[in-house]
Amino acid sequence: MDAQTKRNIVIVGGGIIGCTTAYYLTRHPKFNPALHSVTLLEATSIAAGASGKAGGLLALWAYPSCLVPLSYRLHKELAAEHNGAQRWGYRRVGCGSLAATVTTSDIRARAQKPSSAPTDNAQLSELPIQSTAPDETTKEWEKLPKQDDKAAGLLRESPLPPDLDWIDGRLVQYYEEMGAPGAAETAQVHPFHFTNSMADLARERGANIKLRAKVTKINDTKTSGVHSVEYEDRDTGETHAIDGVTDVVVAAGPWTGKLLPRTRVEGLRAHSVVFEADVSPYAVFTDIQLPVDYIPEHRISQGQKRRHKGNVDPEIYARPFGEVYACGEPDTSTPLPATADEVITDQSQCDDLVAYIGTISPTLAAAPVKTRQACYLPRHMRFGEQRGPLVGPTSVPGLWVAAGHTCWGIQNGPGTGYLMAAMLFGDEVGEEVGKLDPRRFKV
Ligand SMILES: Cc1cc2nc3c(=O)[nH]c(=O)nc-3n(C[C@H](O)[C@H](O)[C@H](O)COP(=O)(O)OP(=O)(O)OC[C@H]3O[C@@H](n4cnc5c(N)ncnc54)[C@H](O)[C@@H]3O)c2cc1C
Repeated sequence: MDAQTKRNIVIVGGGIIGCTTAYYLTRHPKFNPALHSVTLLEATSIAAGASGKAGGLLALWAYPSCLVPLSYRLHKELAAEHNGAQRWGYRRVGCGSLAATVTTSDIRARAQKPSSAPTDNAQLSELPIQSTAPDETTKEWEKLPKQDDKAAGLLRESPLPPDLDWIDGRLVQYYEEMGAPGAAETAQVHPFHFTNSMADLARERGANIKLRAKVTKINDTKTSGVHSVEYEDRDTGETHAIDGVTDVVVAAGPWTGKLLPRTRVEGLRAHSVVFEADVSPYAVFTDIQLPVDYIPEHRISQGQKRRHKGNVDPEIYARPFGEVYACGEPDTSTPLPATADEVITDQSQCDDLVAYIGTISPTLAAAPVKTRQACYLPRHMRFGEQRGPLVGPTSVPGLWVAAGHTCWGIQNGPGTGYLMAAMLFGDEVGEEVGKLDPRRFKV
């Protein structure tokens, strides 16, 4: 690609993938604002979808291997260059997996003896216990697929770290640290602040970011490829067109399949909650065995049955800026809505999460819950199976896709943005990246 050629690049989507692509385009050595224009169209607001509602865990043992080491390094470099520690909470975080068993008598004993941790135990005394036989309608807990076989192989036994004091160690059967001991294999960012910072930094270098601009059509001809993009201004309802477009990068997360059905990128809803609590920095994958007769209080008061058979696996991440994030299982009950601001949050799923976490963490049982939310995980599906993200050119000249990052899009955002910018400016990228080439999947 001749760097002297005029380029009119439109990015669809202001999640982490769209924003890091805008950032790296405007910082590419060949970027010349006199010749190259970068416009990002976002249907709602920056990080309105999963990029603002994710946990923010970064891990060298994540997948796919052609993105992870690059992206993990870029996170570190971005934080060093732009004061990421203050700006978006970049920091090292411990990470482990634990199994805990909570019995009815544990809960009762805690409720009767509030002496060791008065505030926490006061809350725990409110944990409801109801004598009910397990019923046929309860379901097994499902997991977001963060821990693949490779990640599981990195588990090694270790005692509960002494500073992981916000989990009740008496209930924990084992704790296994994730990653090699002492190696800096896990870190974290606050994804909402990170994504917004990337957008701001891209804007500072000349990217034009339009909010509430929903792309409705990408026009192309068979011979010359993409040439214009139509979008709806959601404030006025008017349709506008950007003509003379040379490149379109579709980074619309789970909505990518709505614009380009042949990508088969779709969404899977998942709920999460955010507690106000300043605790030691650990990300914890849990496996909690609940008492057989335990029903969360909100379900009792609504005359509902319990939802799970006994084992629940919420992921809990201490986060910068005095908060703790936790996410639950994905669910297929509610299809992807037209825009991110129309996502429906099922409050009872959030309340389940809060209740389950309260059984093993007196600290979090006592902490205010400041956010209950849901978002859609972007997944690239083929023949009923989840595949890796799509990153690269399509068979239509000038049409690019960067989407389908499943549960590692925050970890892999900078790497994806960097590679997209490199490909758009005609740089060679490693052969391994070819595995993500959308054309391999007939896109
Ligand atoms: C519960 C949960 C926890 C997670 N935790 C982690 C984690 O700890 N670590 C990690 O690495 N990853 C995590 N992830 C995954 C990560 O959040 C996603 O992979 C990532 O945010 C995807 O980013 P994206 O930019 O592709 O999509 P999105 O964040 O969904 O952004 C897409 C954007 O496109 C916009 N858009 C859609 N259609 C249009 C249109 N037609 N016109 C204009 N704009 C449009 C949307 O409004 C949205 O803002 C988690 C995901 C979930 C669900």
